Amino acid sequence: MTYKKVWANNEKLTKEETLKLEKDGLDILNDIPTYAKEGFESIPKEHWSLFKWAGLYLQKPKEDGYFMMRVNVPSGILNYDQALTLANISKDYGRDVVDITTRQAIQFHWLEIENIPDIFKRLEKVGLSSVGACGDILRTIVGNPLTGIDPNELIETKSIVDDVYWFFQRNENYSNLPRKYKLSISANVNNAQNAEINCLSFTPATKEVNGEVVNGFHVYVGGGLAAKPYLAQELDVFVKPEQVKEVTEAITIIFRDNGYRDKRHRARLKFLMADWGPDKFKEKLLDFIDLPSKGENKFGTWNAGYFYGVHPQKQKGYQYVGLNIPVGRLHSSELIELANLSKKYGNGEIRTCNSQNIVIPYIKDEDVDSFLKENILQRLNIEPKAFIGYSVSCTGIEYCNLALVETKERMRQIAEYLDENITIDVPVRIHMVGCPNACGQRQIADIGLQGIKMKNKDKKLVEAFEIYVGGTLNDVPEFNKKLKGKIEANDLNEVLLKFIEAFKVEKNQGENFHDY
Ligand code: SF4
Repeated sequence: MTYKKVWANNEKLTKEETLKLEKDGLDILNDIPTYAKEGFESIPKEHWSLFKWAGLYLQKPKEDGYFMMRVNVPSGILNYDQALTLANISKDYGRDVVDITTRQAIQFHWLEIENIPDIFKRLEKVGLSSVGACGDILRTIVGNPLTGIDPNELIETKSIVDDVYWFFQRNENYSNLPRKYKLSISANVNNAQNAEINCLSFTPATKEVNGEVVNGFHVYVGGGLAAKPYLAQELDVFVKPEQVKEVTEAITIIFRDNGYRDKRHRARLKFLMADWGPDKFKEKLLDFIDLPSKGENKFGTWNAGYFYGVHPQKQKGYQYVGLNIPVGRLHSSELIELANLSKKYGNGEIRTCNSQNIVIPYIKDEDVDSFLKENILQRLNIEPKAFIGYSVSCTGIEYCNLALVETKERMRQIAEYLDENITIDVPVRIHMVGCPNACGQRQIADIGLQGIKMKNKDKKLVEAFEIYVGGTLNDVPEFNKKLKGKIEANDLNEVLLKFIEAFKVEKNQGENFHDY
């Protein structure tokens, strides 16, 4: 392919780039059936990293041969068969664990190479795929989990998201991007998509064209978290719904052909955007497609992807219900039960949210009370307390090779401890991550907890955390700021309790960490 020749002539390519030129990430899909027959030992070590393109990572420790799989869930919408299929994969192969990610995807653990062809077959049968969920490629597309049922939604986005998603699925023109590439398309007026932290986001907007108000999108480019976080910047363009795919393709080409490939840590789109700025980026985009300047933003208050409680749908006579999934982790039996309840009371759908929670739609007004009495809602409840309901966690050392500390179970226990010991009038969004990467999006949390290793007073290397405070995407988006010092993991409960108690004493009614 011609676009690859440009990089091949570049002497400064990283080892990852060199590997990608030798073998496209998607080619691993052709090898998996053979590896599945011949076993984990038959996989050359230098090809381990290419499994990411199939949505697979080797768990910690890699040599044990267990995989984590991420499954794309565009817009977070799962129908009954899909939810059941995911639950059964976890039951049959994944030791019963189902994780909801901060990008609405589903993750399994403990998979073995021998299981992968059957898992692919089961996913394909219900229209799901793990391909592109990881790797230097377009990842799952974040959307509005309320699309089609949201009384305030400007445009229904499911078909737009699906159209873009299937265009990029297994598309070899776009399977060798400089790094991962995160997209969100949503017309939720509460920015449930966390637009500013995506590489590319389409956000709800209107524009007067020939005296008529047209609904469409504004475009934000170059957001991203990790060690050097950036907020996406708005381009001065207005995009009609039917242009979203073309604009996405154009921006993907710009990234593919101009993104930095000589240093891995500079390869995200955010660095290109930071260097170019929105005006130059717009100019490059207009080489591909003619777009008018922007109209009016239709963002309201940021809700961080939380939809707890019972809410009327735009369809008269129906309600959607938002449930808490503590730190996004379910057992397969719980997912089966939720799917069955959704079928009994709703239309069988389960919708995942960025907040690692779920929404069950289409419950008839008259059935809501019976639904709320179902046993499972005692654990996965609709009015969670201020800490467990707003705690987010990445995978952590249990499975992740990059993790420095344990996160998920620790976050759950800390949240429960805080709920037992303090009541507060505002939710406190605590996000825990096990390393400087940002799978748990700690930069936008009220309190971000980032795992590190440190020597304690006895000179022993222990798990510890840095604390960051005041992140928000509301009004004037801002990442949280680091407090001085580090806290040993064992002291985290007490330190957080004292810290939040002090905040509670000094704050005004309704004031949250960022306001304070
Ligand atoms: Fe692993 Fe770090 Fe991501 Fe957590 S944030 S899952 S520790 S890479």
